[in-house]
Amino acid sequence: MKKLLLTDWKKVQLVEAPIPEPGPGQAVVRIKYAGICGSDLHVFDGKHPSATVPLVMGHEACGQLYAIHDPRGDIQVGDLVCAHTIKPCRSCEACNTGRENLCADVKIMGTNFDGVFTQYLLVEANRLIKFAPGVDEKLAALVEPLTVAVHDVRRSGLRPGENVLIGGAGPIGLVIAMMAKFSGAAHVVLTEIDPTRIGLARDLGFTVADPTGEDFDRICAQATDGEGFERVFEITSVQSSFTTCVSKLKKGGVMLQVGMPPAGKQFQLDINKIIYSECELRGVRHHTMNDMQCAAKIINSGVLNEQLSKLVSAVYPMEQSMEALERARSDKSVLRVLIDFS
Ligand SMILES: [Zn+2]
Ligand SMILES: [Zn+2]
Repeated sequence: MKKLLLTDWKKVQLVEAPIPEPGPGQAVVRIKYAGICGSDLHVFDGKHPSATVPLVMGHEACGQLYAIHDPRGDIQVGDLVCAHTIKPCRSCEACNTGRENLCADVKIMGTNFDGVFTQYLLVEANRLIKFAPGVDEKLAALVEPLTVAVHDVRRSGLRPGENVLIGGAGPIGLVIAMMAKFSGAAHVVLTEIDPTRIGLARDLGFTVADPTGEDFDRICAQATDGEGFERVFEITSVQSSFTTCVSKLKKGGVMLQVGMPPAGKQFQLDINKIIYSECELRGVRHHTMNDMQCAAKIINSGVLNEQLSKLVSAVYPMEQSMEALERARSDKSVLRVLIDFS
């Protein structure tokens, strides 16, 4: 089999390796499609504080269950599956209160241990999630970004009929927008300054406004009767977007900081807005196995599949992985680049 090895920062090589054999509690997945995420490029560039080389990157994928050491009644060899992307310790307080994403000793797939940019992936069998028969494999490969949206929308506390503002119309902003709409948001407005991304978000049927544009305040007021948004998601981790997002919160509103600024970066905050309007600012980190189980169910149901399919912009064979990584980095018109490892 072949795997895409990050041999040094900014250097990948398709190398030959033996197909892994599952030990007790383990399984092997034959990867079909793997998506390239912004965080993979971060690792690739050597900017991730806890990643080390050599490493197999990637955490967005689906594939067929190839082998399993201890059979699971609910998943058979040949089933289309994904694997949850964090390894929690299962013994700390966070793990035992349903918040494994906050585990004191959490390990991240494709960053702290080998990820999905490979033909055969060794995983813990109890982190596997099965898709329904007949699910489109390209959509199944989007389960992890959809899981981010499930976790973030849940954490925002969004209720039906509320209005949502999303700072940044990249892939994560768009998938949160889809999930917010699916979860009952009345109006969803995205902010974006890049004209290509504005066009892509409009193609998906969303209201998009340039926060530096003249009509931004009018568009926000129209969506919210001038009262501001109940739930706000900031994705870009840029100060100007952060400030805009805070300013558009409704009284009692909740803002989620989704984007991760570089380590040590400080933000200015209008603290009076938080105090006098009783607003809340919440963080988010990773997601849980249950978030991914729900994302898989949403994909199985097909309810978001038409919109999700528009996120897949290009598919490259594994031999062209370097081109795929470069495309994902430089082309603003692509939302998700998939690598075909079959
Ligand atoms: Zn990702
Ligand atoms: Zn733990």
